[in-house]
Amino acid sequence: KKQVDILGVPVDMVSRSEAIEEIKKLIETPGLSSVFTPNPEMIMLAQEDEEFLSILKNADLVLPDGIGLLIASKIKGLGLTERVTGIDTMNSLLEYCGRESKTIYLLGGKPGVPDLACKNIENRFTGIKIGGFHDGYFTKDEESGIVNEINSINPDILFVCLGAPKQEKWISQYKHLLKCNLAMGVGGSVDIYAG
Ligand code: UDP
Repeated sequence: KKQVDILGVPVDMVSRSEAIEEIKKLIETPGLSSVFTPNPEMIMLAQEDEEFLSILKNADLVLPDGIGLLIASKIKGLGLTERVTGIDTMNSLLEYCGRESKTIYLLGGKPGVPDLACKNIENRFTGIKIGGFHDGYFTKDEESGIVNEINSINPDILFVCLGAPKQEKWISQYKHLLKCNLAMGVGGSVDIYAG
């Protein structure tokens, strides 16, 4: 896997289709794998937030959302020719989950929003299994209940939409407790699927 260092963040140099192939492999790998899609704002945030930087460094896959063009113009020949956005990747993954009858769990968004997003996802991606969802406005005390619910479902993919860096920190905090194959921080995607 080719990586390029962007201000200390190792970004994986993959095309959209390579990203999906990598993620499929991670789903089949034992233990929870994490995938993040930092945009330029997140890279800047990581400069002042050591914990966030370290989480990005330890991710299994880091996709360049929005910085692809910048990198490509700087480092020609490294093979990055297209922008790999979180939402494009999520779309392709949901298609894959539909084809393979995989189970997803959606965490995040305002109350009412993930429910609607899940309904739309179920209608659009035939075959997909919606294991469950929870809004992103919970207290610390409620977190163990959410983790237990996710674990009882044991989803193939957990999509976390809490905004950055909250979603990355949440995934990192519960990485060793969560029973699920892959967790991905996807920001405002829940709002997009809710329509
Ligand atoms: N969000 C949440 N809980 C929070 C903060 C944010 O569920 O405590 C949700 C918010 O409702 C939105 C999503 O996180 O659906 C992404 O927020 P934002 O657009 O700020 O993040 P970005 O996509 O820019 O990373």
